[in-house]
Amino acid sequence: MQAAIITKANHLEIQEIPTPNVSANEVRVRVAATGVCGTDLHLYSGHFGAVFPLIPGHEIAGIVDQIGSSVKAVKEGDRVALDPNISCGSCHHCRRGMQHHCENFAALGVTRGGGFAEYVVAPESNVYPIGNLDLETAAFAEPLGCIAWGIKRLQPEIGSKALLFGAGPIGILLMQALLISGICEVTIIEPNAERRAVALALGAKRVLEPHPNLKTQLFDLEPYGFDVVTEATGIPAVITELPQYAIQGGKILYYGVAPDEAKISISPYEVFRRDLTILGSFSLHGTLHTALNWLSSGLVQVTPLITHRLPIQDVGVALEYKNQPGLNGSQKTLIIPQ
Ligand SMILES: [Zn+2]
Ligand SMILES: [Zn+2]
Repeated sequence: MQAAIITKANHLEIQEIPTPNVSANEVRVRVAATGVCGTDLHLYSGHFGAVFPLIPGHEIAGIVDQIGSSVKAVKEGDRVALDPNISCGSCHHCRRGMQHHCENFAALGVTRGGGFAEYVVAPESNVYPIGNLDLETAAFAEPLGCIAWGIKRLQPEIGSKALLFGAGPIGILLMQALLISGICEVTIIEPNAERRAVALALGAKRVLEPHPNLKTQLFDLEPYGFDVVTEATGIPAVITELPQYAIQGGKILYYGVAPDEAKISISPYEVFRRDLTILGSFSLHGTLHTALNWLSSGLVQVTPLITHRLPIQDVGVALEYKNQPGLNGSQKTLIIPQ
C-alpha cells in the first residue's frame, strides 16, 4: 500500500509498503478520509513523543476491509470512524477511569501506524460504526470528540454567553459544540476574513477582528464579562488575556495547544476574588460517540470547513497549510487515499 511516512524529524517520504494484516482482536480499515491536524505538524517536527518511522494521521474514517478471528463489533464492509487512543487498562490512570492519561499510552498516527495510508489496523475497541454518516464528515469525529471532552469538563450553564478567540477549524467546531450545550451566543475574535465569514455562517452571534480598542468594544458588549471565555489558538499572548473577560464566577477553558515551554502570568488574587474557574482539556475520553451523535444529527456542520482534499502524495503540502494557518484559505485538509 501507499503510505506517507515520517522517517525522522522533519523528513517525510511517500513509500510503497506491505499492507498490514490483523491479529485476532484487530480490524483493518481501508481509509476513506483522514484529517490533517496541528498534532501531525508537531509529530513531524519530532515533538509529542513521536516514534519514527511513523505513518501519521489520527482523524480517520473508512470502510472495514478485514477483521481478526475474535472481532464481534464490526464486519467487513462496515463504515467506521476510529478513536486513535489505545490504553492499557491496568496502569494507575486507566484504573481510575482516566484512560486518556494511560501511562502506557499508544495511539494510531502517534505511536503506531495512522491514517495517511491506504489501510490502517486498529484494535476492535477503537472502531466505531457510523451508519449512513458521510465518510468525510466522520473524519471529524476525533477532533470533535476532543471538543466534546472539553465541553464535559466545562459544563456550561444553560442560557450563558461565551467569548471565543480563534475561528480555525477547531474554533468553529468548538463554537458549534458550545451552541448545542447550553451557550446561547458566541462572540468570536478572529483576524482572518475567510474564517470570520465561516464562523458567522455557522452560528456565531458576532465575529470581531482584533484591533487596538478590542477590549473596550468587548466591555461595551458585556459590561460584566462573559460566562465562558475560551480560545482555540494556543497562542500564549491570547491565553494570558482571557481571565479579564470572564464574569464573576465565570469559567475559562484553555483549549488550544500552547507550546510546551510557554508560560503566562495569572493573578491568583483575581481568580480568588472573582470566583473564576480555569480549566484544561486533553484529548478525548469516551467522547467519540458523542461527536458521532452530533455529526449524525446535523447539529454540527463540518462541510464548510473542508477546504482541501489531497492525495497521500501531498501530505507534505497539507502539513505546509497547517504550518501557515489560513494559507490558500485553508481550514481543514483531508487526505483522501487514491
Ligand atoms: Zn487531531
Ligand atoms: Zn493504562
